[in-house]
Amino acid sequence: MHRDPACAACGNETWEVLCKRALSSIDMHAAITDRTAAARLIALLDAAGQTSHDVEFRVCKRCGFVCFMPRPDETEATQLAEPLQSSDEPNLQPSVSGAIDGLHALCLADELEDHLVHRSRVLSIGGGDGRHLTSIANRGNVVFIVDSTPSALPGVVRLGAGLDALDSTARFDAICLDSTLEHSAEPAKLLSRARAHLNDDGVLLVEVPMDLFGRQPPRTPPLTSINCFQTTSLSTLLERVGLRPLNCVFAWHYTQPRLVVRALCEKSTPSERRTPDAAGARLTRALLRRDPRPLRGLMRGDAKRTGAALLGYSLRAIRRLRLGSSPTTR
Ligand SMILES: [Zn+2]
Repeated sequence: MHRDPACAACGNETWEVLCKRALSSIDMHAAITDRTAAARLIALLDAAGQTSHDVEFRVCKRCGFVCFMPRPDETEATQLAEPLQSSDEPNLQPSVSGAIDGLHALCLADELEDHLVHRSRVLSIGGGDGRHLTSIANRGNVVFIVDSTPSALPGVVRLGAGLDALDSTARFDAICLDSTLEHSAEPAKLLSRARAHLNDDGVLLVEVPMDLFGRQPPRTPPLTSINCFQTTSLSTLLERVGLRPLNCVFAWHYTQPRLVVRALCEKSTPSERRTPDAAGARLTRALLRRDPRPLRGLMRGDAKRTGAALLGYSLRAIRRLRLGSSPTTR
């Protein structure tokens, strides 16, 4: 665990404390994933010889990136994330979760459509068994996955558990990091390694949860994400590692009623460009105090994806109603 790390997005070392959180006081009202994360963090703090079970949320004074400290290293972050990712939706019926995954896959394929031709090679980093790649595969592309999940769906080529499994000469036309970057202790290193496998005219798609809106204490950012990005901090990170955002926006998750930051980028030269002092931090503070202005235009020009998000939300609501009337139906 690192007590005083530099900002994982911009490299700056000046932080402002947002709030402190006592892990041992997280009670039964917290989300199951947050309770699990709290228990895991306590175990990691004990193993690291820390006497306190408190974490401190801080915001980078330059880019507005938010994380908690002490900060897990790469091995600890993996231990923290693995069981959480597999327990996201334990109770969804196969037919309902299949429909939601199908919607997600369609939206993802639409997102990349303009950048793919027939037989394009598409890699997903941390995409489970590849269920969100089915539409891309159905449109005539070749899809690959690296993930700790031991098996992949038919039509998806699993290359191994991580980027270490790839041949150094392997290249792809598109690479997706969908809900992956928020769990990485070294997101710049992960993106640099992904960039090395991107064709010169390829695109890289990043999506991370946007967990900052209205999260002022006592409702702090969740423990399940060790990196909390908004558009400024994510684009700063992308530019630092040599990825130029074609767009980097607040958006709705494809099928869930929650906000994300989504960026599509291409290769550029690594840049030491600094964001204007405090502009990113001001954006984070505006989001934390529930200022809607940064989110203006969220729905505009995005009717198809908004429709998919509403349909996904409806399917979940139907599922919850069914569970309520007949809890034994699985
Ligand atoms: Zn920063």
